[in-house]
Amino acid sequence: MAVLVNFKICDNAKECGGIEVCPTGALSWDEENETIKIDNEKCISCGSCEQNCPIGAIRVAYDDEEYKKISKEIEEDPRTTKDLFVDRYGAAPLSEFFMIEEKDLNKKIGDGITLVECYEDDSIQCLLKSIPIKDITSNMPKDTMFYKVEANDELKKKYNINELPTLLLFKNGNLLGKIEGYYQVEQKEELINKINEINN
Ligand code: SF4
Repeated sequence: MAVLVNFKICDNAKECGGIEVCPTGALSWDEENETIKIDNEKCISCGSCEQNCPIGAIRVAYDDEEYKKISKEIEEDPRTTKDLFVDRYGAAPLSEFFMIEEKDLNKKIGDGITLVECYEDDSIQCLLKSIPIKDITSNMPKDTMFYKVEANDELKKKYNINELPTLLLFKNGNLLGKIEGYYQVEQKEELINKINEINN
């Protein structure tokens, strides 16, 4: 009957898993407006998109009553994309959701603030000793995004990276600065201060 997207937590990307599996084109990518487009005339409520969204941002309603209920839930949802930041700076990726490939980096750097952690296997430290991304973005706007990318030589050269992991901070598409090296969880405040210095 209808599909709903909770854009409060959706990263609204072309690579949306729901678009990938939708058999009717009810979910598609609007190139012009760079957003996920919904055409409920085409939705057959098969549920594939809902199952293929790793964060539960896509919901399918099977009747009017359910549509109203889900709409209300989305309207009242206090979460933002930042609430999904379960990954940690300087740690093996916990979730595929924030992993991107180097070739897609430019597309992911949007308006607002984008943090990109560049890493290689050697730079990943013990998970329990690393810093939750939610903590280091607590003073940042709700639409702040975070990604992890495995650094290849080209990327290291492009951003003049000498040590991994490196955190790149972009604002409105421009690189504001970078922080190189691993920070223990005990150094969280130091890392936050460095980020704030770059961001101000
Ligand atoms: S429920 Fe099925 S038809 Fe409707 S948007 Fe999702 S995948 Fe497409």
